[in-house]
Amino acid sequence: VNNSEPLHALGQPPLDDASRLCSIGIDCRTASNRLFGVVVDLNGAVVPLPARTASLGVGGRAVRTRELHSTDPEAVVSGITELVAELRALRPDLDDQFFGVGVSVGGHVNGRTGEVILSPQLSWRTPVPLAERLKSTTRFETVVVENDVNALAVGAQFFGDAADARGPEDAPGTPFFAVVRLETGIGVGLVSRGELFRGITGIAGELGHFPVERAGRRCVCGKHGCLETIAGGIAILHAIHDAGREDIESIKDAADLARNGDEVARAAFEQAGEALGRGLAGLVNLLNLRLIILCGEPAILAYEPYVTEARKSFEERAFSTAARDCTLRIERRTGELAARGAASMVFEHLRNHHLE
Ligand SMILES: [Zn+2]
Repeated sequence: VNNSEPLHALGQPPLDDASRLCSIGIDCRTASNRLFGVVVDLNGAVVPLPARTASLGVGGRAVRTRELHSTDPEAVVSGITELVAELRALRPDLDDQFFGVGVSVGGHVNGRTGEVILSPQLSWRTPVPLAERLKSTTRFETVVVENDVNALAVGAQFFGDAADARGPEDAPGTPFFAVVRLETGIGVGLVSRGELFRGITGIAGELGHFPVERAGRRCVCGKHGCLETIAGGIAILHAIHDAGREDIESIKDAADLARNGDEVARAAFEQAGEALGRGLAGLVNLLNLRLIILCGEPAILAYEPYVTEARKSFEERAFSTAARDCTLRIERRTGELAARGAASMVFEHLRNHHLE
């Protein structure tokens, strides 16, 4: 991952005093009940934090995490507010240069208003005006809230992750790629000709809710037979529970069980991987992408047979040369990259305002 690609190298106009502006990015990683926070500067570098206070990440020691004890809106707002304050306190030298906060959340988000309309991941069933709330608690005027996978896609664009995946016929500076985030569910962030594709109301990319089975298990969205009921983390756990192992509660325990040779667990991972590969084949058949960055739950992606099955069915099911045209890249540092992406959304916002 190239994390030092400056803004102007991506064909975007440089801003005055670019190097002095910083933004804070926070990802709500609900699968592990944690918030991930990073500081990013406008030139496209992740800002290092004092060594003992941060985990090692793409930009060196630059990731700060915080546990979320509950996902109710009050707890999430106060958790984010406290993590923002911690990150600011860790770099007091930059304090007058912090420009805004970007937050990434799973679910249906209105990126323009910063309202979270529906988030099954956070169990938010009614709209939460998250950006408005955070503007008052953090005292930042610029707070951008975006769907987590869209934030990952904008981050990949901003930091130049997709720059090396370009074919001879692709126009420079207009990458066409998708980020697929695999957690309990499956989301897609799509960049077309260098621009994030949200659809008309921000729903674009809900690959996890692609209706693949006529009947089938009830999904978190309330419908039946969605792809994520057979391909995501929930599908793996359900298959193991159905075989009588109800003691397995986390995807990490399920992966350990599979590694220890448990046939049911192994089959659950392999079948889910096969289903994911079919979903990815559908994606390239529909969009003819150059690159898919597959990221998400490390316990699933680190289990090789899952990834092998996904690759195999992706290649077998894609139409004509669609799989050969597309690089499928696995990326395991999702929380941090989503936080980095959320921070870059602030610059995206700044650039759009600047150019208006
Ligand atoms: Zn669904």
